[in-house]
Amino acid sequence: MKTIKVILSVLAFTLALTGCKKQPAPAEAEPMPAETEETSEMKDGDETVDYLAVVNKLNPLPENWESIVKTVTVTNQLGREVEVEQTAYEAYLKLKEDLEEEGIYIDLDSVRRSVAEQQRIMDDFTKEYGADYAQKYVAVPGYSEHHTGLALDVYLIIDGKTVIENEEMMAHPEIWEVVHEKMPEYGFILRYLPGKEHITGYGYEPWHMRYVGPDIAKEITEKGITLEGYLGMANETVPEIDYGNSSVYTKEDMDPVITQIKCKFAEWNGCELKRIRYAGDECITEENLEWLRSIGDKSYVKVIEFLMDFHTAKDMQGAWESDHDYTDYQWWLAATEDGSWDIVTWGY
Ligand SMILES: [Zn+2]
Repeated sequence: MKTIKVILSVLAFTLALTGCKKQPAPAEAEPMPAETEETSEMKDGDETVDYLAVVNKLNPLPENWESIVKTVTVTNQLGREVEVEQTAYEAYLKLKEDLEEEGIYIDLDSVRRSVAEQQRIMDDFTKEYGADYAQKYVAVPGYSEHHTGLALDVYLIIDGKTVIENEEMMAHPEIWEVVHEKMPEYGFILRYLPGKEHITGYGYEPWHMRYVGPDIAKEITEKGITLEGYLGMANETVPEIDYGNSSVYTKEDMDPVITQIKCKFAEWNGCELKRIRYAGDECITEENLEWLRSIGDKSYVKVIEFLMDFHTAKDMQGAWESDHDYTDYQWWLAATEDGSWDIVTWGY
């Protein structure tokens, strides 16, 4: 069993730093083709940004983006300056106005952050808390969709009150339903769909919208797919989840753990996730806990194991066979007293 550093964890304030959720830290022992496919090219002599550019954990911001993107800077209702790509902002204003007619009030939270700004945050955190900490909680500069100016995080204003914390926002699905329904008409898609974490690398974020233009937004939304799937960069197959018959963990306990595994899997470029299943209560032993404590260097109190079936990409590098089915690939996670799970190690 190869070991990795603990790379995923949930802290509320992570969101302020990454704009979204977790970002990758260097990892080992995973299938990874050498080349990342170029998908977002700029047209020669055409000084507009590509509204379909994919910026995710595998694909960085296109090189000349920052020199050609046209943005506007506005002050939100909390008095903070936010920067948005111009066309996306105009579209946002129309969406906002339409929603207000329905009695729904939204405002911009996190929009554009330049790569340099992200690097500054990374440097500050490295200096103050060390490289491990910074890598864990700060988005890798260059690999956040928020660099584009086309990704908007909004918050809600309900009865005049600011609702901006993730958990509070999640508690209003009826509001998000209306917001999501109206978005495509104005050119926005919901970027991080539930159940698609293995493709996007992020868990469900009802507040994160991405501008792609109305025609494509409508098509993507109707099909219920991701931007990656629309562009042919990922297979939209929904993996089978098998929760087994645990007398220790409920489905509700397992779901966030499975989401973490799926988010990590999204970094395995070109691989298709087929199935995730609970390995069984036999994995819960003091010996395994001790083993994970020694790897993760934390005083873990809970252990869980999942097994994964997946299909590799056509051009896999290293020890992995291309276009091949792998089964029963192991994922070991452990939780500390506060209940947050870490992916501690994985492999055969
Ligand atoms: Zn976001």
